[in-house]
Amino acid sequence: MSSHAPQAVGIIPENTPIRVVPATALPHLDGALSYRCDTPLHIGQLVATPLGKRQVVGLVIGLADASAGMTLKTVSLFHADYRLTPDMQQFLDWVAKWYLEKPGLVLKMASSVPSALKDDALSIGYHVIASPDQAKTERRQNILAELAGKLPETLSAIRAMTGATASTIKAMCDDGLLAAVPIRPDHSANQPDHMTIQDRLKSLTDEQSDAAKTLAKAVTAKQYSAFLLDGVTGSGKTEVYFEAVAAALKAGRQALILLPEIALSQAFERRCYERFGFRPRLWHSGLTDSRRRAVWRDAIRGVPMIVAGARSALFLPFKNPGVIVVDEEHELSFRQQDGVRYHARDMAVLRAHLSHIPIILSSATPSLESLVNAEQGKYHHIRLMSRYGAAGMPDMALIDLSKTPAERRRWLSPPLVDAISKALEQKEQALLFLNRRGYAPMSLCLSCRERIVCPNCSTWLVTHKSAGELRCHHCGHNSQFPSICPSCKTEGMIMPCGPGVERLAEEVSIRFPEARQGIFSSDVITTPALAEQFFNAVHNDEIDIIIGTQMVAKGHHFPDLTLVGVVDADLGLGGADLRGGELSWQLLTQVAGRAGRAERPGKVLLQTAMPESMVLQSLIHDDRDGFIAAEKAARKDAAMPPYGRLAAVILSGRDEARLMLIARQMVDHWPNFDGVTLLGPAPAPLRLLRRNYRVRFLLKSERDVNLQRVITSWLAAIAIPSAVSCQVDIDPVSFF
Ligand code: ADP
Ligand code: ZN
Repeated sequence: MSSHAPQAVGIIPENTPIRVVPATALPHLDGALSYRCDTPLHIGQLVATPLGKRQVVGLVIGLADASAGMTLKTVSLFHADYRLTPDMQQFLDWVAKWYLEKPGLVLKMASSVPSALKDDALSIGYHVIASPDQAKTERRQNILAELAGKLPETLSAIRAMTGATASTIKAMCDDGLLAAVPIRPDHSANQPDHMTIQDRLKSLTDEQSDAAKTLAKAVTAKQYSAFLLDGVTGSGKTEVYFEAVAAALKAGRQALILLPEIALSQAFERRCYERFGFRPRLWHSGLTDSRRRAVWRDAIRGVPMIVAGARSALFLPFKNPGVIVVDEEHELSFRQQDGVRYHARDMAVLRAHLSHIPIILSSATPSLESLVNAEQGKYHHIRLMSRYGAAGMPDMALIDLSKTPAERRRWLSPPLVDAISKALEQKEQALLFLNRRGYAPMSLCLSCRERIVCPNCSTWLVTHKSAGELRCHHCGHNSQFPSICPSCKTEGMIMPCGPGVERLAEEVSIRFPEARQGIFSSDVITTPALAEQFFNAVHNDEIDIIIGTQMVAKGHHFPDLTLVGVVDADLGLGGADLRGGELSWQLLTQVAGRAGRAERPGKVLLQTAMPESMVLQSLIHDDRDGFIAAEKAARKDAAMPPYGRLAAVILSGRDEARLMLIARQMVDHWPNFDGVTLLGPAPAPLRLLRRNYRVRFLLKSERDVNLQRVITSWLAAIAIPSAVSCQVDIDPVSFF
């Protein structure tokens, strides 16, 4: 199928006409242009590629027609090492084809640190040239002892290690204790030494050790295989997949662990360190360029390492991958929602397949997709049924809000308040879960009943009281909390409605003035360091009541936490979203899994106005199998994923009438493909987003239909004006 699948050619001699994909959005089908090379090179090489007045990164994908002649522009080599493996090239090609994306944009994700390709300016490093006893002061002796046997380090690294000042280091050079030499600033630190990785199967439980052995064996076999590591919260899934990672490192290969929430990476780093004796290399958008450069270079050079990263880490050009792990594989954060709309979990499976390595999808609440794949024999299903150590599963119960409602403008019902009081009396911690950021999700003018909406989007503005602002969670718009109604101009009548975590915190401080509380949401916990601080405070018993959004549900271990109160278990149950029930079940199971993870038993109380709902009933009766069976049956009946396929086509632009006009033309051009249903056009649920109106189509088909081909031929027949954007969303996970 593929234009950039590697062709079997050895070295391409200089001056040969070649095809190159520049890392940018070119309209051509294969995204490639013809060039010449000024040096001999290989297919897969990354080259400096002139494009108009710019120079971009390009990928050499094959030979061009010889008749192209000598008028072609030349590309030049960055470095012979910077060459994508054939499987990586195939991977990029497949991703572009699967998501109907421009190959250049997919390549851009794999070359996301352009500065990594260029040589760094050298900087100055210092190394020891004397023994510690040659120094006169104890301080200097300590510095020498600390640096002895190390490669030259930069001044800032030495400062961080020893606390020495720049002037001390200079003086030590003058005195012949240290020498200054030019170095590359990013020489790789923290490299695993495979000799030092210990076996630890002995300390695993039987259940864990069986699973770990199976995974490690698959890594050693160097073949594609997919595993669904499906174990209850606290069963030790991380400990288990670490053994597969260990096997990869022992074989001198690279291990990639994709994490759903990189703000929580510090605890993860520490666990890696405890297991392996070195830290993983992190990868996410918040890193400095020089850190990213170092990881990217080590990836493409095949240096053995563990990379723990956000979804974009999947596009690192690993030369020597040994295993991929997707932790919390059910999480929707693995799905990118703008730019190239890819699902990192699905593409990780593809990547493992193309690279002939095993992949491990880990979760306590696997996605229906993965469960069905396991059932059909595509994945090996490994289950861990019990929690590690003394911990049992928590006890769950519903609080029926129609019987025991909270008071007016309060959100904690009497039974939940009692349970919190009891936990506090026994010096245990409680977690109140409410998946709503800010103070109140909506504000209303009491005089004209008008709701305050975003000027750019068709959504309500959310009150953030501590910041004194109204915020749009879609476009980032913010404004002062208004004293006058924008609609009827009445003063002082605007009233926040409903609770967010901030408002819940207010109620907690009124009801439990003695208790120390902390909010855990993405508005407060903005960096890994803040998350770490928060966890430390919880571990050191400096917090009695944690109030958190979904961020708190993800994989933390709080030993003294015994009570989880879910303030609104119905959130997310009412929606029309295909996955509403599944997501709710996953989230509530994960939150519940925070309770009672050590010796003391846990209790989970869920406040609800819909106690009979399927999700809640299966949760309190611990009937996962029943829930999954019912969910599968419903999807099967409706021919929805994972039994059918979906794709969305979204038009957006400033002029809604025009969008509808084009949408109707598109319907006229719909050629009626067998087995495919076209739904729409309809205004999107989020009709206005960032000042653009949106109109949606949904295509629904049987499992084996090539929807990509259907969409390509359909859209090829329609001229869409440049003022209108047309996005295709293959296997969509959100429908707003
Ligand atoms: P999961 O990912 O399944 O929720 P974790 O791997 O986070 O579970 O394990 C839960 C807790 O139990 C962690 O603190 C972990 O260190 C501990 N644990 C699990 N298995 C073992 C083991 N075999 N030896 C020591 N500690 C373990
Ligand atoms: Zn907005």
